[in-house]
Amino acid sequence: MIQKLSQKHSLSKEHTQKFRKPFALNRNVAGFNSKTLHNNKYIDLTMGFGSILFGHNYAPIRKAIEAQLAKSWSVGPISPLAGKLAEKIATLTQTERVAFFNSGTESIMVAIRIAKAVTKKKYIVFFKGAYHGTFDSLLTLKKDPRTNIAKESIPGITQSVLNESYLFDYGSEESIDFIQKNKDNIAGVLVEPVQSRNPDFQPISFLKDLRRLTEENDIALIFDEVITGFRIDIGGCQKHFNICADIVTYGKVIGGGLPIGVVAGKSKYLDAIDGGFWQYGDDSFPQVKSTFVAGTFCHHPLAMVASLKVLEILESSDGKFLSELNLRTTNFCLRMNVFFKENYPKLSMVHFGSLFRFVTPGRHKELYSQLLLNGVYVWEGRNCFFSGAHTEEVIESLEEKIKLSCKQLSDRGIIKTKI
Ligand code: PLP
Repeated sequence: MIQKLSQKHSLSKEHTQKFRKPFALNRNVAGFNSKTLHNNKYIDLTMGFGSILFGHNYAPIRKAIEAQLAKSWSVGPISPLAGKLAEKIATLTQTERVAFFNSGTESIMVAIRIAKAVTKKKYIVFFKGAYHGTFDSLLTLKKDPRTNIAKESIPGITQSVLNESYLFDYGSEESIDFIQKNKDNIAGVLVEPVQSRNPDFQPISFLKDLRRLTEENDIALIFDEVITGFRIDIGGCQKHFNICADIVTYGKVIGGGLPIGVVAGKSKYLDAIDGGFWQYGDDSFPQVKSTFVAGTFCHHPLAMVASLKVLEILESSDGKFLSELNLRTTNFCLRMNVFFKENYPKLSMVHFGSLFRFVTPGRHKELYSQLLLNGVYVWEGRNCFFSGAHTEEVIESLEEKIKLSCKQLSDRGIIKTKI
């Protein structure tokens, strides 16, 4: 298998090797299998890690970027598009204020900072199974089972940066008890409401319990909607589950393929960025003691214009684009699950809206390499996304490729059919 993949991607290998010395990139060693793809045609299920909602090189977004490029792509004076975009996001997500950054990671970093600044408390509670980007104080998979303090497990992330972070099983009673008992020290509870790694776990009543508990105890409830935002619904999980968080982070889809991170939420928290509302011509002034956030590229005009275009497209479809995409994904997963149950009972699909994953225990993981050989690209993190470009026709072809891949693996005795 590896040999076949290696032959198929010989140009990619050459390219990767040529630049390996100057270009440090961990994706080139993920699973010791990853190769940049070149000169091959694929059905892409990776879709820019979920950042591409309408399909690659989608003309309306490309044209908006090109038009802006012709005007200016400089930073310095804040792009006049930023205020307009903030207003639009606030309306669509029912948040009060909005701030811009360059990545999901940065928006998480800021969300935590403002939660601590406003509550004047220290601890952050977060959950196993979530991915919040690469901000140091959340970058571990382990905890001390006695104290629940996040424990260092990644070189370079030292214990001192983790000491205010508490890690729990998602949806656990234990976490609720801990929050209740330590409410006076907890600044924020950070959740990926539906974790991209476990999309079939949608703990609505747990989220509602968290909302009640955090509200009663001056703790910021932070929804990380970097994946779910503008995908499950234009209003994200907040709208889908009818739960209003205090701070919400967005990224990926909203940027139309360009780098962006968004922090939105209640004025109580966002005012810590700029001191809150004031106006010219009277004696008002920024009253809230602010923390510090900044970034050279935070309101990059190309990202602003692409985001405005994404929202314009979604708004003009009046919910139809996302609901149809979600339905196409649901139906695909249902069909595949019937097929797997009848033929390869250890395989299955899980999904949330247009995000889905194959469940591939043990050697069934070889499915990904076989899919790659048959022209289907799933990246090493295994989150798959449908986009507007995944029409019924493309999905039909995808289903054939999945079935063919299963048969090839079963013929070689790697996975078992139901007999
Ligand atoms: N939060 C979630 C839920 C994510 O899935 C990701 C990235 O995959 C991030 C945050 C980090 O975003 P970025 O990669 O833009 O820093």
